[in-house]
Amino acid sequence: MDLHEHSALEIREGIARGKFTAQEVCERVFARIRDWDPKFRIFLASDEEGAHSAATEVDRKLAAGEPVGLLAGIPLALKDNLCTSGFPTTCASRILEGWRPPYNATVVERVKAAGAVLVGKVNMDEFAMGSSCENSAFFPTRNPWNPECVVGGSSGGSAAAVAADLVPLALGSDTGGSIRQPAAFCGVTGLKPTYGRVSRFGLVAFASSLDQIGPLARSVEDAALLLSVIAGHDQQDATSTDLPVPDYLLRLREGVKGLKIGLPREFISAGIQPEIKAALETAQKVFADAGADLIEVALPHSEYCLAAYYLAATAEASSNLARYDGVQYGLRVSGDNLLEMYGATRAAGFGSEVKRRIMLGTYALSAGYYEAYYKKALQVRTLIQRDFEQAMTKCDLILTPTSPTTAFRLGEKMEDPLTMYLSDVFTISANLAGLPGISIPCGYSLEGLPIGLQLIGRAYDEETMLRTAYAYQSRTDWHKQRPAMEETK
Ligand code: GLN
Repeated sequence: MDLHEHSALEIREGIARGKFTAQEVCERVFARIRDWDPKFRIFLASDEEGAHSAATEVDRKLAAGEPVGLLAGIPLALKDNLCTSGFPTTCASRILEGWRPPYNATVVERVKAAGAVLVGKVNMDEFAMGSSCENSAFFPTRNPWNPECVVGGSSGGSAAAVAADLVPLALGSDTGGSIRQPAAFCGVTGLKPTYGRVSRFGLVAFASSLDQIGPLARSVEDAALLLSVIAGHDQQDATSTDLPVPDYLLRLREGVKGLKIGLPREFISAGIQPEIKAALETAQKVFADAGADLIEVALPHSEYCLAAYYLAATAEASSNLARYDGVQYGLRVSGDNLLEMYGATRAAGFGSEVKRRIMLGTYALSAGYYEAYYKKALQVRTLIQRDFEQAMTKCDLILTPTSPTTAFRLGEKMEDPLTMYLSDVFTISANLAGLPGISIPCGYSLEGLPIGLQLIGRAYDEETMLRTAYAYQSRTDWHKQRPAMEETK
């Protein structure tokens, strides 16, 4: 097997046993980046020097018999909204061009301390607003399964980096589906933890009550490994929860016998691509064969998810993004006075989707409309949370498609934001309810594009969710298929 085809766990073990060195793994990563990145445009900035010194340090420690961390020598890519000390962090926005954060995000600190080799920052939709990576101010990323198609978003670079076998692990963020939807579009595994499970300190905020950082990997096992490293309380983030973090690899193999998986009837109708519907029906049989009980459940307020999300998320974004005014961060366009400088900087620095969201959010929060829009959205959010609480009294997990379609063509939805927003119709509710969700590959369309299924778990019960997803992957090999990138070189 070629080095780049190894899973994260295999890399760790190979290095520990002296089959290959961290340095060799690292060199292979950069050779592949040189070969493939010009075509798929995944990286915004790579850090060959930093990666080499991290790899050398792992090799040195092992040679000296010193202990190494859980991610020793494993290459990892970061979404470009995770702060990296002294290293550019742009959120794929012109307004942050040239900004170098003075500190690392907590997740970055944790993966570094665990010995991961950070290879660079990858593309995303500007400020994580989007579902295709086409809202990046720099360039869209192309799908390794078909370069004419989008990678999904907003963590599209993270999903593509894993799908193209450039790295076995990546971190993304998910506010309404941004880890799970690109994972589905690129045929990889993507997990959004429970709100509060992972520290958001150093994640550039989009919608603070919905944002959560999580792993993307080629398998549930590798995702579990990375989650074990990043999960847990952090004093720097008051919304991170002080609950013990299980070793997520420990109970993966316990199976799903007796677990109840709920199928929400509301999710099965809404304009799903027929191949996705069929793949999901086949997946249900796999879960049933593994010993799970499949039952129907109701999530009656599902049809209001999208509307509630696009009010709550934009309201929070309009407030979070007020800080980019040309004073403290990145771009400054001068003007005759302070107000003109603010205006000129924001006009030049933000892309059109970000501006649209700031305007929507500002409107929803303004006097006279606050009660009618923002407050209503929060009330609906409570109803959606209750739907899940109610459903979860009958089942342990909920099974849905990840997205209503497979990856669409570049450019196809750019003129129509509403159809773009529909991409997240199945993922948003987990963010509104704060629950963990995972997307895993469950088939391919006739065109050969990956299809993803989503499992939503109980709050803080990532363990059951991972165990169920693992049971599926141990019975299927969808997640082992690789894109034929050579054919389209
Ligand atoms: N696509 C959704 C949006 O544009 C979700 C984005 C995300 O999860 N960051 O808001």
